[in-house]
Amino acid sequence: MKFVTFDAKGQERLGVVDAKRGILDLQKASAALPSDMVKLIEGGEAALNEARKVASAAQDKGEWLPIAGTRLYAPIPHPRKNIFCIGRNYKAHIEEGARARNLPVKFPPVPEIFSKPFTTVIGPEANVLRHAKNTSQLDYEVELAVVIGKITRDVTQSQALDHVFGYTVFNDVTARDKQAAHGQWFKGKSFDTFGPMGPCIVTKDEFGSPSGHRITLRVNGETRQDSNTSDLLFGVPAIIESVCASLTLHPGDVIATGTPSGVALGMTPQRFLNVGDLMEAEVEGIGVLRNKVIE
Ligand code: MG
Repeated sequence: MKFVTFDAKGQERLGVVDAKRGILDLQKASAALPSDMVKLIEGGEAALNEARKVASAAQDKGEWLPIAGTRLYAPIPHPRKNIFCIGRNYKAHIEEGARARNLPVKFPPVPEIFSKPFTTVIGPEANVLRHAKNTSQLDYEVELAVVIGKITRDVTQSQALDHVFGYTVFNDVTARDKQAAHGQWFKGKSFDTFGPMGPCIVTKDEFGSPSGHRITLRVNGETRQDSNTSDLLFGVPAIIESVCASLTLHPGDVIATGTPSGVALGMTPQRFLNVGDLMEAEVEGIGVLRNKVIE
């Protein structure tokens, strides 16, 4: 199933998406269901089954809202924690980053983990601020993001996917100059609006293996990043095992898994983002996350 958080007269509502029928307001269709994505995830299999039942019962009753014209928020508009992120997790991206910064190419022996504040998160079609006063190197990073489904601590790779609720698309927008200047990446990754997420969360049963999905990003229609999640240096099970070692993850926690090559930093000449640029981040099986850069 595909779940979204959508706007109904200024209110955030939880919906299920069907390409043919549209968006169904789940709580309106069943009082047993919440209006909030994290609460749905916390509801586990019982909530998922209820959502399935309601979506199937609502067939052809005219209760579906049109997808076009319905405004979406980030699927998890107010994450309870910072977004967990994996840095340098596609080989070609590691190579382009090292080349751009005149450093030797070194692949990390374990996942490199950092975080972005939850306040960076914005939804599909929301604008990314240019922040010209504080960066001259605004960059994009399309990523597959994992949404955790239940309390998760000290699980091994073989158990890890049991703890996943689903997947979404994340754009790890970055101020490259600040990322380099501060030594640690936190500041350069954390400006307001630097966390576009969406358009939906696809449940793991529908998405299938997290490996083997094409991942692309276009700027003004031009393909800049084009890879496959099978090229991840550390795959989703290894990432979860590493992040949750002695650290408790909760339902609704988000882990962005890293970006492939093709970022502006790695281009010759470098082509950073400017006001008016439209980013389209896409992961096969999830959808397209569109965000424009404004002043
Ligand atoms: Mg990243």
